[in-house]
Amino acid sequence: MALGKDYATQECSIARALEVVGERWTLLVIRDALYGVRRYNDFLVHLGIPRAVLAARLQALTAEGILEKRRYQESPPRDEYVLTDRGIALWPTLRSLGLWGREHFGESRLRWFRHADCGTELGPYGECPRCAMIVPVPDVEMAPGPGLDRDPADPVSRALLAPRRLLEPLDTDPRRPVDGHPQEPEGGGRGPGGVADAASGSGRSAEGRPV
Ligand SMILES: [Zn+2]
Repeated sequence: MALGKDYATQECSIARALEVVGERWTLLVIRDALYGVRRYNDFLVHLGIPRAVLAARLQALTAEGILEKRRYQESPPRDEYVLTDRGIALWPTLRSLGLWGREHFGESRLRWFRHADCGTELGPYGECPRCAMIVPVPDVEMAPGPGLDRDPADPVSRALLAPRRLLEPLDTDPRRPVDGHPQEPEGGGRGPGGVADAASGSGRSAEGRPV
């Protein structure tokens, strides 16, 4: 018997939430949106997700009011996806889920999440133990942890190497400095077949750089 898409027999708010965010990839799309990813191609290269699946997830999350589609370029038309308050409200859930995964499955720490005002690591619900407050999501600073690849291939992972605040729109311009070290000039370090070239062939230059 095929697995049903919803939990029609379940009168439970967890079941209702899972109808919206329980499909494979969905929470990772939301995680990336919290990290500041907004553009289709950036989700695509960072997640390594099939295009059709990404399109379906973005459409579903927009329909559920978790993401909002915003036009950022008219010619050619390009939209980006920005978390709504309903989407941002999933942050403590993702924070807890990440800690749970690390504690029970031994994942290495990829990122630190700190209160930007005082530098204290957040607790499992997004709270700052030092300031005794739930930290507003824009005041959460993320920084690379010891388990994070410091030489990633894709431009989104490279942009995420620098400490940054959650929700801050991601700049994936390949020329931007990472960790204070300027990158090679365009074409200087990445010849044909390099990530920058491969990405530009799929329309990345139109979508992935600041306008
Ligand atoms: Zn604090």
